[in-house]
Formats: sequence, structure tokens, C-alpha cells
Amino acid sequence: MFWPQILGHVMQKELLSHALMSRRVHHAYLFFGPSGVGKKTLALEVAKALLCSESPDAGCGRCRSCLLFDASLHPDFFLISPKTGTIGIDEVRDLIERLALKRVLSPFRIGLIDEVEKLTEEAANCLLKTVEEPPEGVVLFLVTSQVLALPGTLVSRCQKLAFSALPEELVARYLEEHEGLSPDLARALAFASSGSIGEALRLARGMEDTLFAVRSFLETVQEGDIFRAGFWLSQHREELHRILPLLAGYLRDALFVRLLGDRYHRVTVLSREDRCLVERLAHLDSGALRRALVALGTFSEDVLSNAQWDVACFHFLLKLRGELS
Ligand SMILES: [Zn+2]
Repeated sequence: MFWPQILGHVMQKELLSHALMSRRVHHAYLFFGPSGVGKKTLALEVAKALLCSESPDAGCGRCRSCLLFDASLHPDFFLISPKTGTIGIDEVRDLIERLALKRVLSPFRIGLIDEVEKLTEEAANCLLKTVEEPPEGVVLFLVTSQVLALPGTLVSRCQKLAFSALPEELVARYLEEHEGLSPDLARALAFASSGSIGEALRLARGMEDTLFAVRSFLETVQEGDIFRAGFWLSQHREELHRILPLLAGYLRDALFVRLLGDRYHRVTVLSREDRCLVERLAHLDSGALRRALVALGTFSEDVLSNAQWDVACFHFLLKLRGELS
């Protein structure tokens, strides 16, 4: 199997590997489908394989061409990857001029445009000429998650390859095996990302940041510094819908560890940092943990009913410090 490191898309990978092995490569490919499913990653791998001087079937990863490609320094490869805004005609003209130059190292000169829907009308027209009459040895990869936003003339002249969302089980397994997430969290993020590995990773990293912040918040409260804790809560008022359930989760886990000990298996799937916090909290009296959960519930209700923030926050933190210190 070619490109085993890229999740899913078996049919697309087979089609492309067949084109590589038979050396029947189209001059312009359009990869389209949901964002974050691996379209650009696969386009890069195919480009690397085409440029490789040792093993043109899949890219050897060791030759000068592959090493230059991996370092983003390949003289026959050009990438336009906009972060924001549009792709203007100057960028496209520059790409076309570079593609028309003599090949330096490899049998092809390759251009890849990510988020090709960001081309201005002028830029798209300019690119169309190259797609219609490409210089010999030039291959273009156009990648988009919004194929309907592209001019039909451009779409019709490309070899189209549709990509779909990845199965959630596949995304969840990846998050477990490569990101070290617990099975519960991996499944939740795979579901929330609708089969987009890019989105799942973004959520996972955001979640890690939030978990870190929530753990720090609890430590601050336990150290007794409720003013710093209050300042942090005020700064994160917009995110309370995510923060408060996480706080409740830590307190509930600690309560169950306290009550059930080793019979509470959930603790074994927590990350090392989460387990440390839960085990530390589990040293507290079960009554204190219950009262902290009640205080958290009251604070959640106060937030939902738009009670006076300063008063609700101060009462909550005072109560929490009293129970957790
Ligand atoms: Zn190589």
C-alpha cells in the first residue's frame, strides 16, 4: 500500500499510485472534499514521489530530491498556500514563470496551490491558460474544500479526485495511537470533528490547552489565591460552558476514586497529568468533594441566570477554597 501514513482514502491512493507506476500522470489534478481530511498531505506525497530520483513509484525519502523536498527547498517544486485573504494574479504569474523554467533536478516541475478557491477571478483566468496548455513536464495540483466556488472552466480541465470525510473510528484510533489521547476523549473528538483529522487535531490541541488551564486554576484555588483564580475566571467567561464541565469532571472522578478506590476504572484511561490531579483531590474528604460539586452547580446556575458576576464568582471561589484546601 502506498502512503500508509495517510489515513483512509484507499481508492484515491490506488488511483494515484497506479498513475505513478504506469508513468501516466495527468498535467493538472484537482483534489476536492472536506477540509482537514488529508488532501494537501496526499498531494505533497505524490509530488515528492514524482520528483524522487531513486524510487519514482512512492518517493524513497533518502535521495537528494526527497531530502530537498522534505526541507521545502526543492528547486522544481512550488507551493502557494494562503493563510488568509486571496491569491492574486501576481502570485499565479510568478508560479507560471517558475514552472516554465528549465528543470533543475527532477523529470517534472510541479506547482501546488492549496485553497485554490481563494484565487481572484483574474488569477483564475491566468491559471486557466497554463491548465489548458501546460509546458512539457509540468504537473499542477489544485486543492480545495470549496469546489463549487471555482470557475467551471478550471474544474473541467483538471483530473478530479473527490475526497470524503474519514470514518470516525479511524480518526479516533489515530488520536489514541499517535496523540496519546484516552479512548473516551479520542471518540468524542472524532465525533465532534465529523471525520476531519485536521479539525480533530485542532480540537485536541485546544482541549489540551484548556485542560492545562483548568488544572492550574484548581491548583491556584488549593493554594488559597482566590483573587488570581477569580481574575482567570473573569478572563475566561466566554469559555465557561467548556470549563465548568471539565472542573466538575475532575471533582466527580476524585469523589469516585475516594469512594470506590481501585474499582473505579475510569481513572486508568486519564492522562498522567489528569490522574495526578484526581488522585491528589481524592485525598480530600468525600463530603468536601460533594460540597465542592454543589458549589460548582450553584455557580453554573448563577452564570446561566446572569446573576451579578462579582458576587457569584467570589462566593463560588470562597466555597471552593474552603472545601479543597
Ligand atoms: Zn527519493
